[in-house]
Amino acid sequence: MVTAIVGADWGDEGKGKITDVEAAKSDIVVRFQGGFNAGHTIVNKYGKFALHQLPSGVFYSHITNVIGNGVALDPDKFIAELKSVTDRGVPQPKIMISNRAQILMPYHVQLDTYEEERLSSHSYGSTKSGIAPFYSDKFAKIGFQISELFGDEAYLREKIDHVVTLKNVYLEHLYHKPSLDSEKIYQTLMHYKKILAPYIGDTFEFLRDAVKDGKNILLEGQLGALKDPDFGIYPMVTSSNTLAAYGAVSTGIPPYDIKNIIAVVKAYSSAVGAGEFVSEIFGEEADELRHKGGDGGEYGATTGRPRRLGWLDLVASHYGCRVQGATAVAFTVLDALGYLDEIPVCVAYELDGKKIESFPPTVDLKRCKPVLVKLPGWKCDIRGIRKFEDLPENARKYVEFAEKAIGVPIKIISNGPSREDIIYR
Ligand code: GDP
Ligand code: MG
Repeated sequence: MVTAIVGADWGDEGKGKITDVEAAKSDIVVRFQGGFNAGHTIVNKYGKFALHQLPSGVFYSHITNVIGNGVALDPDKFIAELKSVTDRGVPQPKIMISNRAQILMPYHVQLDTYEEERLSSHSYGSTKSGIAPFYSDKFAKIGFQISELFGDEAYLREKIDHVVTLKNVYLEHLYHKPSLDSEKIYQTLMHYKKILAPYIGDTFEFLRDAVKDGKNILLEGQLGALKDPDFGIYPMVTSSNTLAAYGAVSTGIPPYDIKNIIAVVKAYSSAVGAGEFVSEIFGEEADELRHKGGDGGEYGATTGRPRRLGWLDLVASHYGCRVQGATAVAFTVLDALGYLDEIPVCVAYELDGKKIESFPPTVDLKRCKPVLVKLPGWKCDIRGIRKFEDLPENARKYVEFAEKAIGVPIKIISNGPSREDIIYR
């Protein structure tokens, strides 16, 4: 059985925790897009971890963790992250990286950083991890596929020269920065070849066999539907598809084999970086929610930046669940709302004086205002509750209200950061 866990909104919905819980039942956990830019927070018996590139199954010795070909792999950061996990007592995990994955190069990080500097106030709010230059190069066919490191030296050197010629035009003439040197790039790639060698495999064959053998496979998404380059708030999006459908591209698993798609929706909204966010709140109201939200506040797992906060946006979440093809919803961080007398929820947008319930493209989204309704709060701590029936009536009503608007069954409710804080319906 293949299950995908993906974000319905702007990311940081709590996918890490849900994946961690679901991973226990899996044989294989796969990262299928993005790279070091995203962060999943996982709290378990070893402590609290922020995973960036490692699949969330690394805490279980029975799981094979796969990095699919759709991922932007930063080799040095991958090794460092692996070490940071094993240094804290986690047994050496089983990891397999697709030989068709591509390498995120140091110059991708540089170009990302220089471009954000150049754009200054008009920047994309990139994490400067090199993600956009990486995917641009992949589709311009000047990326380095891991398999190429193990191939013909003359071919690789020729390709490096070609890439260096192109990159140096930007570095010298647009950014006025030091240029790249072919020999140094070659040495860097050989260093990557050495450190990655123990982990490289044909993940396509491995996963196809696993599907045939009826193994439980979990595809874990990064960010959320609204950061998808096709369906999200373009151009303030990420550079790889964040949709469950892309799990098929990144693994070679047939799309029709992805039977369960769990979309994660947070009980309120948060976003990082720039971009449209209709139900956003500001000032003290936002500070309070930021402080009460998540596990110790809503701050980026990768960057530590304060996240932008807003009320639950049912227009966005309904849309996000549909583009993900959600078969179930995991509704997270419900506990954080326990301080509110009344909880505003965005049920529609007002666009040019008209009420709409669909999520429009960015040009129109810019003019949308939230239509809010207020639901009664429950004013107590709901952590520790294990059954839906045991939740306060107003908390149950809040969940049921969201479920009706989203149109997908909320089968999982998360009411605290740790593994045990979970309610199945
Ligand atoms: P991801 O990127 O979707 O994996 O989400 P992040 O890990 O970046 O952000 C979610 C934050 O909420 C993390 O700090 C989690 O530990 C925390 N979290 C997840 N589920 C819950 C929950 O049900 N309640 C509370 N209070 N925190 C949660
Ligand atoms: Mg995150």
